[in-house]
Amino acid sequence: MRQAAEALVSLLFPAPCRICQATLLTASRIPICRECLDTLRPLTFPLCECCGRPLVSALAGQVPHPLCGLCRRGIYNFDLARSYAPYDAAMVRAISLLKYHAVTPLGDWFAARLAEIVAGQPELWVADVVVPVPLHATRLRERGYNQADLIARPLARRLRLPFRSYLLVRTKPRPAKLRLSRHERWDTVRGAYAIRDRARVDKMHVLLVDDVFTTGATLDACAKTLRQAGAARVAGLTVARAVSGGRGPAGAWEE
Ligand SMILES: [Zn+2]
Ligand SMILES: [Zn+2]
Repeated sequence: MRQAAEALVSLLFPAPCRICQATLLTASRIPICRECLDTLRPLTFPLCECCGRPLVSALAGQVPHPLCGLCRRGIYNFDLARSYAPYDAAMVRAISLLKYHAVTPLGDWFAARLAEIVAGQPELWVADVVVPVPLHATRLRERGYNQADLIARPLARRLRLPFRSYLLVRTKPRPAKLRLSRHERWDTVRGAYAIRDRARVDKMHVLLVDDVFTTGATLDACAKTLRQAGAARVAGLTVARAVSGGRGPAGAWEE
């Protein structure tokens, strides 16, 4: 009966898949066809135990606690980071639907994937609050919403944690330039975030959420701000991960 009703809906209101334009055959909250969703495959192991960077070295699979070069040098201020999928061509299109077209059900679909990561190792993800990486007020006004909210809000609901989008603010705008070099990424986010007036993060375990992890500079800057304000632990989850680690084409996308 339900199938018949869905088929009728798709007959009456045929909607194309927002990625490949194929007509959707069943009514779904997500305007993306099954085939396209199936291309958004999760990252494959092994990953850096700290920042979640996929490690290409064949040796990494044999080491019990593999760490990438950056984490061995302890450069990140966050305690842990993981991502759902590589930032490949399919994911670039999916993220842009979230970022520029406010496809909210897709945010919930991503939140479900991130909740699965948490469920896989719950002891690592104990948190008091879920905090989206904020946009600068000017950017927020232009776009009308923060794409990180579209992921973090349903994730907080799924994890039964408070959603606290007001804790962090971005005080320094991102340069208008679309593509930033690896060095510029670190430079533009340095000191770009602050704790909102009178907000308290003392001793808190914070779960930070963003759409894409490119160099890790953004999560790092947010984590540094939170830690300086007294947060006990900061862990980050992003939907996508630039697998080249900031080099090559993946590193050229906006963070
Ligand atoms: Zn499709
Ligand atoms: Zn690492």
